[in-house]
Amino acid sequence: MRIFRNLAVITATLMTVAACHLDRDDPLVFGTRLPQAAADQGQTQAAAPAQAPQQAPLPPMTMNEIAVAYVKLVLSLGELDEGYVDAYYGPPEWRDEARAQKLDAAKIESQSQRLIVRLIATAPEELPADPELAALRKSYLKNQLGALSARAAMLQGRKFSFDDEARALYDVEAPHYAESDFLPALKQLDALLPKEPGTLAQRYNRYIDRYAVPKDKLQSVMRAAIGYAQLHVRGHLELPQGERFELALVGDKPWSAYNWYQGNFYSRIEVNAEQPVSISRVIQLASHEGYPGHHVYNSLLEKDLVRGQGWPEYQVYPLYSPQSFIAEGSADFGVELTFPDAQRLNFERELFDLAGFDASQVETYDRVTRAAKVLNPAAIEAARRYLDGRMDADSAANWLQIYALASPERAHQRIAFFDHYRSYIINYSYGEELIRNYVEAKGGRDAGSDAQWHAYIRLLSSPRVATELN
Ligand SMILES: [Zn+2]
Repeated sequence: MRIFRNLAVITATLMTVAACHLDRDDPLVFGTRLPQAAADQGQTQAAAPAQAPQQAPLPPMTMNEIAVAYVKLVLSLGELDEGYVDAYYGPPEWRDEARAQKLDAAKIESQSQRLIVRLIATAPEELPADPELAALRKSYLKNQLGALSARAAMLQGRKFSFDDEARALYDVEAPHYAESDFLPALKQLDALLPKEPGTLAQRYNRYIDRYAVPKDKLQSVMRAAIGYAQLHVRGHLELPQGERFELALVGDKPWSAYNWYQGNFYSRIEVNAEQPVSISRVIQLASHEGYPGHHVYNSLLEKDLVRGQGWPEYQVYPLYSPQSFIAEGSADFGVELTFPDAQRLNFERELFDLAGFDASQVETYDRVTRAAKVLNPAAIEAARRYLDGRMDADSAANWLQIYALASPERAHQRIAFFDHYRSYIINYSYGEELIRNYVEAKGGRDAGSDAQWHAYIRLLSSPRVATELN
């Protein structure tokens, strides 16, 4: 899944999903929190199953054998959990095998845990030129398998708190936010927006809607934006030979945009033309879905890790996994990396011209959209309070209208998103924050500098998860 899905189409079915009953005392038995006995065994011998220490030790596996087993388990869970496998371009027979095997969620959970134990017992392969990469690979696989186990547990009815789920699936817990965190940006927007009647959210949404690209120009404006982002990224990064994308405007979809990575450095980027797409959204989509976001991320993983290292685990992308935190966070951060300050303003001006808007208004528009971006984490807090049962749907929608300036329709779409994707929401704004911190720590604070690009590209080409962002 890619960027914020508009779930209007599936709202009706999702609304039947009840808010979860939390069981904070339920011990975590997946991921890095293995039962101690199993973890100890993994450290000292060739790995017995986590739940059956009386069995004979299993033969050792190589890292690639573990990686292939992981891919097959991901494909098996994908057979039970629609949308779980976001991309797969490995051997078709592995998917056929998963379909034929029909593993249930309990088996997938136990096999994932056994694989973690075997992974712990396996030495990372020798990579003298880059020993850190080998260690990162092992850590990545352990975290991905932990998330796989947790997702399989959820499919069996296991309930987690918002924060426990985020740690289990994405390897990270997002900060808690108070209403007061958003007041400065709200005050700034109140000063920037036209003094019109209505609430601040109504004034904000009226203003943004004025800059929705006319439908007959959307294809050309989107194409120009992605092409411009591609050109800009090529100035910093040698993209794989033959990389390409296809852009399609679609309708009747439950999301606003999607990157379908097909392998061979090729993405199909779909934009839902049934929803208004504002200029700031055009820029975000161009970077997030295309350059240097998902298309570049997937292409670099294929080039450097699948083909370069011969690592099969990157041929599959499980949605509810630590990889999504890196994917969404880097895609969102890619916007400011590619178009820092003045460059963004110039880009917006060109797009204003293309869309037929008054370019003299671009600076105010830029200030408004920058101030509004500060409100993005409000969605995380709304999701947490709603999914943890501290707010009902109407209260959460109302809260989103006040603190995220969502329209009533958008607020209810967000609630439907929370029902379906739950803690996935942390991967956007919090992912962006941690990726920014990482890139600034490695490449300095000069936005868009060569040093920042170097750190960013290195990150996109390596198997890092959130706990390795230091
Ligand atoms: Zn995305």
